[in-house]
Amino acid sequence: MIPSVIAIDGPAASGKSTVGRLVAQKLGFLLFDTGALYRAVTLAALQRGVPIEDEARISELARAIHIDLIPATRDDGRPYTVLVDGEDVTWAIRSEPVDAHVSTVSAYPGVREALKRQQRRIARQGRVVMAGRDIGTVVFPEAPLKVFLDASPEVRAKRRCEELRARGEDANYEEILAGVRHRDEIDSTRATAPLRIPDDAVVIDTDHLSIQQVVDEIARLARERHLVKQNA
Ligand code: C5P
Repeated sequence: MIPSVIAIDGPAASGKSTVGRLVAQKLGFLLFDTGALYRAVTLAALQRGVPIEDEARISELARAIHIDLIPATRDDGRPYTVLVDGEDVTWAIRSEPVDAHVSTVSAYPGVREALKRQQRRIARQGRVVMAGRDIGTVVFPEAPLKVFLDASPEVRAKRRCEELRARGEDANYEEILAGVRHRDEIDSTRATAPLRIPDDAVVIDTDHLSIQQVVDEIARLARERHLVKQNA
């Protein structure tokens, strides 16, 4: 059976989570933001003092920890709650140290294999919008709708700055832009599951589109492919 998965891939800060959440709401799907899993493993490594370069121990950690994504448990602007072994790490996984190391952790094949299994298990449970880097290419190549969201590094860095400032955090545009470029480089050149556009994906360049325009376009594609009723 073909799963009801809408795959949304794209580079760091291309709007996958925001767009994914709104598309899911509109169509009555669940949002599964897969970056949260890689972030959770990275945070666990930092908290437990496992060196980021220690591929074997980090892969072991990815197999050992239990990650849950559940509906938001607090009304503080979070789209959902992330638990690692029962501990609420929703905001901690968005911190700067995690941003700085997550691409290294997610390049490890052992980590990707462990998380791929979890992703397929979770997604089979229902109709989901999955946001990530390799959903359409590796995790769910059979997804009936694949979207690739793109935007220039400058626009993505500006969006990330605004997001941090809205949460009352400091944000330096130049540093964030450098971070976005650095993650792009690692994500697209890694040997396992690099960021690339799936052959059969619809590419949406979001530089000059509003969030609502992107959401409407994906909803239209979902109707066109009969993933939802025509009036959704
Ligand atoms: O999407 P987000 O910025 O939260 O993802 C954090 C990092 O996790 C990315 O920079 C990427 O290295 C990794 N990632 C991945 N595959 C996914 C989702 C995220 O490699 N499906």
